[in-house]
Amino acid sequence: MTSPANDMTRRPRGGEVVSASRPADDPLDKPVQFVRGVGPFRAKLLAELGIETVADLISYFPFRFEEQGKPQPIDSLRLDEPATIIGVVERARSRGGGRFGKSTLHAEILDGTGRARVIWFNTPYLHERIQRGHMLRLHGKVGVDNDLARFTNPDVEWLDPDAEPASWNTIRLIPIYRGLEKLPSAQITRLIGSELDAALRHVKEPLPESIRSRRELRPRAWSIRTMHRPTDLAEVAPAKRRLAYEELLFMQLAIMLQRRWTTDRGRAPRLPTTEKIDLRIRRRFPFPLTPAQDRAVAQIAADLDRNRPMTRLLQGDVGSGKTVVALYAALVTVANRHQCAILAPTEVLANQHFTSIEKYLAGSRVRRCLLTGKTPPKQREQYLKAIVAGEMDLIVGTQAILEKRVRFASLALVIVDEQHKFGVAQRAMLKGAGGRAKTADWDPDSRSVMMPHYLVMTATPIPRTLSMTVFGDLDVSIIDALPPGRQPITTRLVPPSGEREAWLAVRRRIAEGDQAYIVYPLVEESDSLDVKAATAEVEHVARDLLPGTRVGLLHGRLAKNDKQQVMEAFKNKRLDVLVCTTVIEVGVDVPNATVMVIQHAERYGLAALHQLRGRVGRGPKPSVCLLMSDNAGPASQRLRVLRETTDGFRIAEEDLRMRGPGELLGTRQHGFPELRVANLVEDTDLLMQARDDAAAIAESDPRLRQPVHSALRDELRRRFRDKVAFIEVA
Ligand code: ADP
Ligand code: MG
Repeated sequence: MTSPANDMTRRPRGGEVVSASRPADDPLDKPVQFVRGVGPFRAKLLAELGIETVADLISYFPFRFEEQGKPQPIDSLRLDEPATIIGVVERARSRGGGRFGKSTLHAEILDGTGRARVIWFNTPYLHERIQRGHMLRLHGKVGVDNDLARFTNPDVEWLDPDAEPASWNTIRLIPIYRGLEKLPSAQITRLIGSELDAALRHVKEPLPESIRSRRELRPRAWSIRTMHRPTDLAEVAPAKRRLAYEELLFMQLAIMLQRRWTTDRGRAPRLPTTEKIDLRIRRRFPFPLTPAQDRAVAQIAADLDRNRPMTRLLQGDVGSGKTVVALYAALVTVANRHQCAILAPTEVLANQHFTSIEKYLAGSRVRRCLLTGKTPPKQREQYLKAIVAGEMDLIVGTQAILEKRVRFASLALVIVDEQHKFGVAQRAMLKGAGGRAKTADWDPDSRSVMMPHYLVMTATPIPRTLSMTVFGDLDVSIIDALPPGRQPITTRLVPPSGEREAWLAVRRRIAEGDQAYIVYPLVEESDSLDVKAATAEVEHVARDLLPGTRVGLLHGRLAKNDKQQVMEAFKNKRLDVLVCTTVIEVGVDVPNATVMVIQHAERYGLAALHQLRGRVGRGPKPSVCLLMSDNAGPASQRLRVLRETTDGFRIAEEDLRMRGPGELLGTRQHGFPELRVANLVEDTDLLMQARDDAAAIAESDPRLRQPVHSALRDELRRRFRDKVAFIEVA
């Protein structure tokens, strides 16, 4: 989610907490826009690749290399084979090349043994640069044109005619970068080539010598250079290892320093759970807590009973009963006469939380409200007044709560559902919220900052390697068993040939009074084309697939009232079928729904499918999940894992292995930069080493003030720029 909140964290803050100020005019911080050959247009393309500065540019590494063999004489070329030649341009003639027209560049090359023709299509940027008399090294597949060898769009390298010919004659490793249609790899190679040497002179070694020698890490500048221009493929592995290590070290260090900062400086109100409070809260639930829930509750209660802010992750598979545990914590807070905010990533989920909390709190004196972006202005004003006056205890809402206008009288606990969908930057701001709200709690002598306790809930079973990096600064409570009486979910893969029968089975279920979800993949919730497609899908379902049933549609772009109405209708059994997008992915709870049909299942990650599947199997009847997939390839093969296990962790590990962390987290906006070199699955050992080293540094020099750490500190600032506020100005 892109959010104005990110900008808010970038603003300089009050107090002495300052996000990284960069050393002025370091050439590595030069925006790429000012690099030769980059204008506003290319700068935009580069930004799409995450490249904004020269430092970003030289850390944009190729994902593979192509070997170009030694140059051959033109008269020895063989048709249809890739070849390299060296020759002099005898003629060059270009045509077109305006912004919109097609362009061509023809050239003829001589090497003393023969003549070759070369043609480049649509490379207007080459027209000025290839001229009669130039000495070129060309690589491409050999074609034929009137008995002459011909190259079409070959790679080109300009040679210095005064250089030692031996240097031309080597095997070349051509880096291949992930590019864009309008910014192909060859162009990236050229941009990096023009900057690399100069930039490398400014690259400093951030790792202390002691770490480098103990971990056997190559120097930084050498590694960066080697990643782009290895002289031998065998050099790439050590270069990569060094850069992966440092990437992991910086990430771990950022997390640890932030955490230290919080424990050193952060203060939170003590919220003891007396026996009386405990009994009173438990009476609210119509069932005894499961042992797993009890364990989590005990850990949370112990944290809340301290004057240091809790930072805890509550992890549990879908339906494991996290809401109950969260509500317990909220009620402890309220019993101690403080406020609690519960935040959900979407409005639907905020509504859902509020509804289920209402169910448990019926008849209680806890003052509570639902505050989202769509709360009518008048009501909103009322709520805000009550919140700042301390006349509201429990506030459930979306991130609208984060807006600056909301002031709390004494916010002591923040519970966030699915934090990774918010992003770390917002989280940092949230932490500040408590401090800002209660200026009276600033204590100038101890320099402590008042913060709320902090509890994150997630149903995404996050493998340990990943949780260390994304949630690394949190303690973890795991609810590892479902409440009793759950029915197993049978999962089936349905190929196109089985669809007819599958739909018949769904109809039979509905005839028996059950309800069904049909999930339809929408690429972008904001895309109106997709809304049209989903609407068409509803008609298709109602008319062709499940005739005679009552079908509703739920997607992210519906107005709030409509959304609520649809959900209500489904809950109250006025609808049999809910066609929906992944807005139902988390939190929706309709026990009578026992059928989950997922269309184009191969388009989702396994963890996402597992979450979707968790929407059924919540009542006393056995449930089914049908994964429809018209794709027989590996994308579908992967779905088998779901049939074989319901262990969310195993599924997530598998997902991580196959699709990478971005996919698993369902967003690229999780606050930390994507890992560029390190791989969380393959580099586990390196991650552990980096973690140990980061811990040692954070322990011995938490403010990075020692001279051996000054380069480390600069680099840390560069990497995290304004994302995390934890380094104090000396
Ligand atoms: P989660 O948020 O982890 O997906 P919920 O808290 O929404 O799970 O709980 C899922 C369902 O299980 C709800 O219907 C809830 O009422 C029920 N539930 C939760 N805890 C228990 C328990 N200890 N015993 C029986 N049912 C429970
Ligand atoms: Mg829930």
